[in-house]
Amino acid sequence: MEIKITRKLNPAAKPQDESKLGFGTIFTDHMFLMLWDKAQGWHDAEILPLGNLSIHPSSSVLHYGAEIFEGLKAYRRADGGIQLFRPWENFARFNRSARRMGLPEVDPEFCLEALKKLIALDADWVPHNPGTSLYIRPFMFGDDENLAVHGSGKARFIIILSPVGSYYPEGLAPVKIMIEDEDVRAVRGGTGEAKCGGNYGASVRAGNRAEERGFSQVLWLDGVEQKYIEEVGAMNIMFKINGRIVTPALNGSILPGITRKSILELLRSKGIEAEERRISVDELMEAARTGALEEAWGCGTAAVVSPVGVLAYQGEEYTIGGGKIGTVTQQLYNELTGIQWGELPDPFGWVCKLN
Ligand SMILES: *Cc1c(COP(=O)(O)O)cnc(C)c1O
Repeated sequence: MEIKITRKLNPAAKPQDESKLGFGTIFTDHMFLMLWDKAQGWHDAEILPLGNLSIHPSSSVLHYGAEIFEGLKAYRRADGGIQLFRPWENFARFNRSARRMGLPEVDPEFCLEALKKLIALDADWVPHNPGTSLYIRPFMFGDDENLAVHGSGKARFIIILSPVGSYYPEGLAPVKIMIEDEDVRAVRGGTGEAKCGGNYGASVRAGNRAEERGFSQVLWLDGVEQKYIEEVGAMNIMFKINGRIVTPALNGSILPGITRKSILELLRSKGIEAEERRISVDELMEAARTGALEEAWGCGTAAVVSPVGVLAYQGEEYTIGGGKIGTVTQQLYNELTGIQWGELPDPFGWVCKLN
């Protein structure tokens, strides 16, 4: 499929102060868009100036939540070049999410080509400061213009780009996490393993409550017994307990993170086999009480690795590793970011160079 390109006539000024980029508030000049319907399949692919969308008020995304997304980054290397990290994984996961939500699948290779073209056009927007990157948000929504509930007969796929600041402007800072024992995020057989907007809609209330109590995020328990650890808001979770690295097994309700997968592969390459299994909140709290819980960290594209300094559950608070970042946490952060920004060799073939 041809991609029609319409350049913006008056490109916006790039942000001057890269220390103030924040997350997801500034967007580049262009976006990619293509349309789908049952009769034609994907069609009308184009790169055009970023702008508002026009949506019929009956569009299915507005009523029944037919929406999925991805999140990945483009990194500026020291030599000025730009690279992606495992984008193939993102588009493969996107198609799994699409299947779960009754949305059409995309051609991953075509989407990656479209993304490369889009980034090439907006290459000056990829920031240079250490820790900064260009956040990439591919998403799709059902766009049937009628109120009947059924699988999507019409959809739009869009990619937008946003230069983002360093997640840790003051260095890796441990966060306080609250284990949620009222709301649940997902259940097995539900949409927990799909990257869909609805999962986030359902998690907002608990997130707000945690924030009011001084915590930065919620750690979710399983949706059936509220007994087993699942994941953090937008991150998977890992622990070092008695010298062993453990993480909840992918059980159908946990989002299969690419950062999670990369860390497990990185550890395996060093001969360290992390345990992927069920971890009960009782086991975790017991380990926290006795000091067997040596480290805890969240992992996801935005933060890469986020050390957990405090865990709270049912009114009790436990400090992990003296509230400081642990050695494994720090090492994983250094190695992953080293590969992502091209400062370390990439023996795994994870990097996709654009130039
Ligand atoms: C995106 C996401 C993650 C992390 O996945 P990565 O591929 O590592 O960025 C974890 N949990 C949820 C709920 C997510 O949406």
